[in-house]
Amino acid sequence: MAKEYNISRPAGTCGECGKQLQVGDEFVTVVKDADDELSRNDYCMSCWKNPPEGPDVLGVWHSKIPPKQEKKRLFVDDDLLVNLFTRLEGADDPSRINLRFVLALVLMRKRLLSYDGMTRTPDGREMWNMRLRGAEAANSVENPHMDDEKIADVSRRLGEILEGELE
Ligand SMILES: [Zn+2]
Repeated sequence: MAKEYNISRPAGTCGECGKQLQVGDEFVTVVKDADDELSRNDYCMSCWKNPPEGPDVLGVWHSKIPPKQEKKRLFVDDDLLVNLFTRLEGADDPSRINLRFVLALVLMRKRLLSYDGMTRTPDGREMWNMRLRGAEAANSVENPHMDDEKIADVSRRLGEILEGELE
């Protein structure tokens, strides 16, 4: 049974010096998944040093705090979603499999990923054969058979982490 993701920190504050990021400030976001806890940390440019490495790092990206009149959300671009999806290739713990499957659904809806069929592993797991737009290589995505409620829950948490609602 997969554990729930917990989100550790709201967006918009530097995780190192605690500074409130202002409109137009550039910053770097790091998303990690350690012990089934999905965490997001933002860093101001003076605290940002080297990109962290390690199996728990799911994604690193640069962005800018949008002007106030725009929707108060940090922008998530398609590259980031594709990047996360690709990084989760071969993940075998349940929470990452769930996350990757939800990312696959999002990318399909955006027409960035197509479904080519399904196969079953000898131990009965359902694998979807998928392909990223413009890519040669196929991607194998396990369908963890979440119910609708679970899918909605993982999607919401993914949205919270990636879009980083600002106050
Ligand atoms: Zn800082």
